[in-house]
Amino acid sequence: MVPACDRQRVELDRAEPPENLEDRLRTALDEARGRKQMARDEKASCGVGRDLHRRDASGGAGDLARAGGKRDDRLTTRPTSTPTPGDPELTELAARLVAIDSVNPDLIAGAPGERDAAAFVAEWCAGHGLDVEVVGDERPSVIATKRGSGGGRSLLLNGHLDTVGVVGMEAPHEPRVEDGRLYGRGAYDMKGAIAAIMLAAAQATGLRGDVIVTAVADEEFASIGTEAVLERVRADAAIVVEPTELRLAVAHRGFVGFELETTGVAAHGSRPDLGVDAIVKMGPVLAALDELDKQVQAGPRHALVGAGSLHASLIEGGQEFSSYPARCVLTGERRTIPGETVEQVERELRAIAGDAALRLGVSREPFEAPSGHPFVELAGRMAGVSEHAGALFWTDAGLIAAAGIPTVLFGPAGEGAHAAVEWVDVASLERVRDVVLQTALEWCR
Ligand SMILES: [Zn+2]
Repeated sequence: MVPACDRQRVELDRAEPPENLEDRLRTALDEARGRKQMARDEKASCGVGRDLHRRDASGGAGDLARAGGKRDDRLTTRPTSTPTPGDPELTELAARLVAIDSVNPDLIAGAPGERDAAAFVAEWCAGHGLDVEVVGDERPSVIATKRGSGGGRSLLLNGHLDTVGVVGMEAPHEPRVEDGRLYGRGAYDMKGAIAAIMLAAAQATGLRGDVIVTAVADEEFASIGTEAVLERVRADAAIVVEPTELRLAVAHRGFVGFELETTGVAAHGSRPDLGVDAIVKMGPVLAALDELDKQVQAGPRHALVGAGSLHASLIEGGQEFSSYPARCVLTGERRTIPGETVEQVERELRAIAGDAALRLGVSREPFEAPSGHPFVELAGRMAGVSEHAGALFWTDAGLIAAAGIPTVLFGPAGEGAHAAVEWVDVASLERVRDVVLQTALEWCR
């Protein structure tokens, strides 16, 4: 449970009236610069520092698969000449979110996290007729509800506020619109889509059911945001707006982290009679892992996400050059397909571990929407797609579906999630907003 003190009620005035796009982008930029300075001052005064943690739990975006493994060119074709975005309000809102640095501090030590971005979303939503609750103190997530009149079905809209780091990027938090693309860290993964669901919820009027926007912390690491949100929120269906190139994704893989540890005996390097080499003992385990990976990849295939897989991630061992190593620890992960369980993965690993000790780490369930569910059918109809897709990477949809909420993924087109140049196609953001709004109007009426 999240303690009650983590909750904050936000009641703020309506956001200022719109000016022209250029002015607004400039304002967003200035605000972001001001925030950056404030963040620096704050850091200097309280000396915040965090350890660098391990990895991106989502496995990176952009590698969508369809049944048959072919990409849908109709949907990935980039617009070539859209000099000005069609909907300045949407582009501006997305740009303002991009201008706020919300790099996940569990990925990059000392990064600011979601506070400023959450405050911005909370303020905007409160100013646009939504009831706002913020959960999580250091790492806040926003729950903003457009209340229906009662008696209708509810719809949860989910996106993450955090981004990965900005190494190698030129101006990560200075949003730029060019040729119908919005550039900047998080534009594609996934602040553009958060802007789209904020606007869709604000426009969803005259409904009986609630439309609930959840803008969450920490999807790129441990998903504490969606976990906290799910302690408070239940809905009759959900759309997670991670980038899907405007396809409707109804399945993705899960993952199971693990460690294998071999034990040796430390001794002087000149004493083979006393020493036992823990690192050499890991050799056969690594070879067996490679063999297991081949078996898994040649094994059962899911129609949308393909086969499972397995890889080594980190290895450490030994004390120094001149000694027999007493210990070697290998970290790895197994990506699972719908139907595969943690118990099954544990059995496979035990079978190849030999005398290495096995410990399971963090794991997340694969995701598959219930086939033939009326919501999946409705979302597909509104999205205008006849085929369903699968995503290879893990998303918070896994947690939401595991909470018993029928869930689909539908998000914008773009490129460069977790890369040095990131952009989202502005027209696709408009499409996401429209499809989400139309789905809400049908589902919650
Ligand atoms: Zn994402």
